[in-house]
Amino acid sequence: MKKIIYLVIPCYNEEAVLYETSKQLEIKMSKLMENNKISNKSKIVFINDGSKDSTWNIITDLHNKSKIFSGINLSKNRGHQNALVAGLMTVRKYCDAAISLDADLQDDISVIDEFIDKFIEGYDIVYGVRNSRKKDTYFKRLTAQGFYKFMNKMGANIVYNHADYRLMSKRALDGLKEFKEVNLFLRGIIPMIGYKTDIVEYERHERFAGESKYPFKKMMSFAIDGITSLSIKPIRFITGLGFTIFAISIIMLLYFLNTYFRGKAIEGWTTIVISMWSIGGLQLLAIGIIGEYIGKIYMEVKSRPRFIIEEFLNEK
Ligand code: UDP
Ligand code: MG
Repeated sequence: MKKIIYLVIPCYNEEAVLYETSKQLEIKMSKLMENNKISNKSKIVFINDGSKDSTWNIITDLHNKSKIFSGINLSKNRGHQNALVAGLMTVRKYCDAAISLDADLQDDISVIDEFIDKFIEGYDIVYGVRNSRKKDTYFKRLTAQGFYKFMNKMGANIVYNHADYRLMSKRALDGLKEFKEVNLFLRGIIPMIGYKTDIVEYERHERFAGESKYPFKKMMSFAIDGITSLSIKPIRFITGLGFTIFAISIIMLLYFLNTYFRGKAIEGWTTIVISMWSIGGLQLLAIGIIGEYIGKIYMEVKSRPRFIIEEFLNEK
């Protein structure tokens, strides 16, 4: 039986790209249907993440023109990860597998064929992995690569150079549903689902219109979220640091006692001031990191919904 494949695309202020994106994706899906590779019940689903521009109007318009397009309108902006989860959790009931991608088509859509081949071969999760970042700016490349290295060092095991371009089978999506945490960091959680997985390499393009919705500030908070929702290594690090500093202070104490008993005057106050400041800084840092985790616990305890769907345009 031919498989029903859903493309899931979160959109935030994407009016500049949506018509072009939908055109290219429609051509792609139609070809796959003609070649009998996928069922013609397959769909392209756009999730409007509380855009302030005409994104939702465009999605409604596309849906009215062709039933291959579906739309999910979130009640407000909840960020890329939540928008994606909203999409995946909604389409889970209708498809055999879902492929998530960005609205700007930076991820090469010609590898969708390979995704589907792997799925038919029996893989439940197929990760799209970038083989080069030639087209990204130097700054973006550096920060993004640093991100993956740092994340792995910090104990969040994520697939190198994989963003959110991936295929997930229905049962992998069902698995994802069981992860109840509110702070869902998809790239770290999905490898925990298990099942047979594989990767497909592709080249990442430039954004053809519009601006990146991930400025440096958002990227930093994304990284901090990723680390603190997956790993407790930073807290361990602080414990280690505290222990080391305590040991050093004991050595210093012995040293000062020694100079005192030998009747030598205590030297300048610089050392004291410097150590005061450095210890003070470290303490604040430590409290900050612990606070970050407590904040996470606070949010989890509340277990607020990750998203609220205002409207779902879908025709059978
Ligand atoms: N996005 C979203 N909500 C947000 C920010 C971004 O749904 O609050 C979507 C955006 O429309 C795009 C995808 O997430 O489809 C990735 O964003 P972008 O292309 O701006 O990130 P970059 O590729 O620059 O990392
Ligand atoms: Mg992009």
